[in-house]
Amino acid sequence: MSKPRVIYWFRTDLRLHDSPALKAALDLKPECLYPIWTWDPHYVYRARVGSNRWQYLLDCQNDLSKSIAKLNPKSKLFLIREAPQTLFPKLFKAWKITHLVFEKDTDSYARERDKKVMELAKEAGVEVIVKTGRTLYDPDELVKHNHDKPTMSISQVQAAGKKIGSIPRPIPAPKALPDPGETDLGFDQEQPASEPDINAIQRDGNEASYSSLAGPNGDFAIPTMEELGLKPATTSHRGGEREALRALGEIIANEDYTATFEKPKTAPTAFEPQSTTLLSPHMHFGSLSCREFYWRVQDIVSKYKGKASQPPTSLTGQLLFRDMYFGAQSALGYSFGQTYNNPQCRFIPWHLPSKIDTDSGLITGEYLVDNAEAEVHFKRWKEGRTGFPWIDALMRQLKHEGWIHHLGRHAVACFLTRGGCYVDWERGAEVFEEWLIDHEAACNIGNWQWLSCTAFFAQFYRCYSPIVFAQKWDKEGNFIRKYVPELANFDRKYIYEPHKAPIADQRKWGCQIKGDGSSTSEGGMRLYAKPMFDFPTRRDICLNGIKNAYHVGLYGNNLKVLDGTWRKL
Ligand code: FAD
Repeated sequence: MSKPRVIYWFRTDLRLHDSPALKAALDLKPECLYPIWTWDPHYVYRARVGSNRWQYLLDCQNDLSKSIAKLNPKSKLFLIREAPQTLFPKLFKAWKITHLVFEKDTDSYARERDKKVMELAKEAGVEVIVKTGRTLYDPDELVKHNHDKPTMSISQVQAAGKKIGSIPRPIPAPKALPDPGETDLGFDQEQPASEPDINAIQRDGNEASYSSLAGPNGDFAIPTMEELGLKPATTSHRGGEREALRALGEIIANEDYTATFEKPKTAPTAFEPQSTTLLSPHMHFGSLSCREFYWRVQDIVSKYKGKASQPPTSLTGQLLFRDMYFGAQSALGYSFGQTYNNPQCRFIPWHLPSKIDTDSGLITGEYLVDNAEAEVHFKRWKEGRTGFPWIDALMRQLKHEGWIHHLGRHAVACFLTRGGCYVDWERGAEVFEEWLIDHEAACNIGNWQWLSCTAFFAQFYRCYSPIVFAQKWDKEGNFIRKYVPELANFDRKYIYEPHKAPIADQRKWGCQIKGDGSSTSEGGMRLYAKPMFDFPTRRDICLNGIKNAYHVGLYGNNLKVLDGTWRKL
């Protein structure tokens, strides 16, 4: 019998270490193994992906490709510029494939895509092998052992986890890889005119057209940002498996930090270095296995002589939160990502909701009071010119670097939704989706629901002050001085509320507090925005709004707003 010819399809797992799916592929003892990454139209066109995340992806792909080539100089990561749904039937035939292997992905879109690919494989007589490796537990198993319900708390994850069994120990990286075999595509590489949008990249008005699936030079090369027509990345955070393992090694080497880590005690104002691990983007791209992370930490905790921290605040607890959101997403599918139709998500009549289904009449615009003002608030929040330096510093860090501390995310998310602007969490989640380098649909959506008190968390009366909260961590305001440099010379007394400084001092310190932040200087003097509202007044408005919404008690699957009144379906 002839030996297997295998395509290994890299997606959420840009690594060689601890990959159950890669191990399964190698266990087939294949005659040839094609490590590929396909252009995914969802990622390339439909998802909001900013330059920083693109750069991170390319870093991961380049690093992986080098590591593959190190194990077998004839091999590398073959980047193929076509959507999997149309590409695979051609590849199966051209490369005489017997097996397709990949890591399980429970994102709603991914499920749909993979179902289609599996059907195509079946038609072509290709066997498909799928293995879990992206999360501590298989999200579907978590749901199954949570009475077929979405996991909405850490204790539910822990209880379900106990029934599933222990988290698998990491698998070492392979020491060798088979040859890839002939890569001749043997079919017309030009795309049919009916599908032009799949293989032409359109970004910022630039269009780079790839007529060849194997790239402009026909060598399956990983593109550059320039080739893709993308703006250069502004972040200094770099991706790739080797960088991920180096960063993890550095964290683990500090046994006290690793064993006693307590999330609420980490400063959101710390930078260079930040106070938490910053491993999230590595886990998003799978350049770091979360099980590798888990066990490296757990092994330190097990032998630690002092008092180690425990979930949910410990490092392993953070990974359980990650699994919790994957479990919720896996159970709820597409409806997890929105209020509409989501049985777990409370309906709040935000000033600025992101989805108004005019066709079905499900939410009319009647209740949208002050929406013009809310739009201005949203814009100023996004652009980091609210006039609240702590919020603006965070939003500017997010845009520039693609990462902010968890409690920083809390602060800006609470401010946009229930603690200031009263704008729909879906609007905020969209901004995070574009700018975060660690954007993970399950975690982003789940955390926005948590912070807006629409799901997971209900203590809406606990609201973050944009002034007092950060002061606790950073009395000098060094974080603000870094990310809002126009305030760098302000005295610590005014750094969180610069509009309160006497005008003469503002001038002396080189920045006047005036206007809405749309102009950055006037007559040679730098300008910084006045606060866009009085925070205590806004907090009360928000609190009342949420209180009323909780009282009415509508969820996303039973809401109807017509003629300005909320009605149960
Ligand atoms: P650490 O504190 O070092 O934690 C270790 C790991 O645990 C992280 O790398 C991450 O994988 C996981 N983790 C920690 N906290 C959470 C959490 N609350 N939820 C899920 N996983 C967690 N995290 C993402 O990975 N992607 C997102 O798109 C994302 N969006 C968020 C949006 C909002 C509004 C909020 C409040 C949080 C969001 N988080 C998201 C969760 C969390 O803020 C980040 O995972 C964390 O800040 C990443 O930094 P770190 O790696 O230093 O975390």
